[in-house]
Parts: sequence; C-alpha cells; structure tokens
Amino acid sequence: MAEVSEAVLQVEELYRFYRAGEEETLALRGVSLAVEAGEFVAVTGPSGSGKSTLLACLAGLDEPDGGAVRIAGTRISHRPQAERTSLRARLVGVLFQSGNLLGHLTVAANIDLAQRLAGRRDAGRRDALLHGLALTGRGRARPAQLSGGEAARAGLAVALANRPAVLLADEPTGELDRRTEHRVLGLLREQAGHGVAVVVASHSPAVAAAADRTITLEDGRRT
Ligand code: ADP
Ligand code: MG
Repeated sequence: MAEVSEAVLQVEELYRFYRAGEEETLALRGVSLAVEAGEFVAVTGPSGSGKSTLLACLAGLDEPDGGAVRIAGTRISHRPQAERTSLRARLVGVLFQSGNLLGHLTVAANIDLAQRLAGRRDAGRRDALLHGLALTGRGRARPAQLSGGEAARAGLAVALANRPAVLLADEPTGELDRRTEHRVLGLLREQAGHGVAVVVASHSPAVAAAADRTITLEDGRRT
C-alpha cells in the first residue's frame, strides 16, 4: 500500500444552524478536523455541544450549512441525498447508539443488506466479520434476541460490512456495562489497527482513554 500522507477524513470549517421561529441554534461554528488512516479520535464535550451534529455531517446523514467534508479525497457534503447515501454506503461505517440493525432481519441479513446498499455482495467478508466479532452462531438471530454486547458487536459488523475507510460512532457504549464497553472499545481500537480512521463521540472517560487523541467541542466550536 502506498504511504498515506493525506488525511482520509478532512473536515473544513463546518457550520450547522437550526432555526425554529425566532430561535436560532448554532450547533456547529467552524469545526475543522483531519483524521489519518489508523487513527482513533474521541470527540468529547458537554451535552448539546454539537457532537452528534458533527458526526451526522461527517456521515453525510445531515448537510452542513457551510464547510466541507471529504472522505478518501471525495467530497460527501453538498450533494443530493441519493449521492450522499451511496458514498456513505461505500466509504463510511456508521454505528449509532440507537442501533443500525433492522429488527425484522437476522444479523447476517443486516450485513448482506449493508453490502447491497453499496452495490456489493461478499459472503466471505460477512462470515469473517461474524467470526471475528465472536458472533458465529448468532448470524440467524434477530436483533431482539441478542444481548447488549452481542447487539453492539452486530452493529459493528454492519458498520464494517463494506470495509469502510472511516468508522463513525455516536455514543456507541452509552448503554453498555463497563466490561462490555471495554470490549467494544477494544474492537474499535483493532479497526484503527487495520487502518480504519475511527471517530467516536462520547462523554465516557473510557472512550477518551482508548483514543489516540481527543477533540473537545463546546457550543459548536473546538476548544
Ligand atoms: P451533543 O450530541 O453534543 O449532545 P447535538 O449535536 O445533539 O449535541 O446538539 C447540538 C445543538 O444543536 C443543541 O443545542 C441541540 O439542541 C441542537 N439541535 C440538534 N439537533 C437539532 C434539530 N434537529 N433541530 C434543532 N436543534 C437541534
Ligand atoms: Mg449527542
């Protein structure tokens, strides 16, 4: 592999405003960030500081009002939603606390669906993920039949279905006990070891401790 000197995730001066009547919330005010392949970055900050808004913009789930997001050299922001969805499917793994598993599909079918959304089919990758995340034998289970730790690992398997360059997680350990949190952090760390750029938003000190570096948001700005 050629040496990577360009950051795989490049975020330039992101702005995001919400307006409700007379009220205007400045959720992001000029946030810039660069994350290299293999780096694990924690995003911390008090509740309401803009962490979830930032991750949603990085994932192309939300559109910033200003600034740009580039992943592996491709701009994901300021595009029609269908294009953002397709770029996300190919380039980004998304792991949110609310879960990225569809309840009516088995774990294996959730992984297959994530691959189909990226125009791929790779049963070998699916089975390797199930094995690597200690979910062998749980591929036919539905999300409601999984323990908290299994559900977290299954969500990670879906996020990793297409070998994403960037893995984004918003409070992924918020509902887990400490031991399970520790294991999930170990798995995220391992992904960084494989060259994935990992960005995790969390209040948890354990997440900051597991990361290579931490950025802190306050009122939509980096401190
Ligand atoms: P965090 O994840 O750090 O708790 P958020 O990114 O969720 O922060 O929120 C940042 C700010 O933007 C907060 O003031 C929040 O109330 C506001 N906000 C977030 N989403 C919306 C929305 N959809 N509509 C209006 N305001 C929002
Ligand atoms: Mg949040």
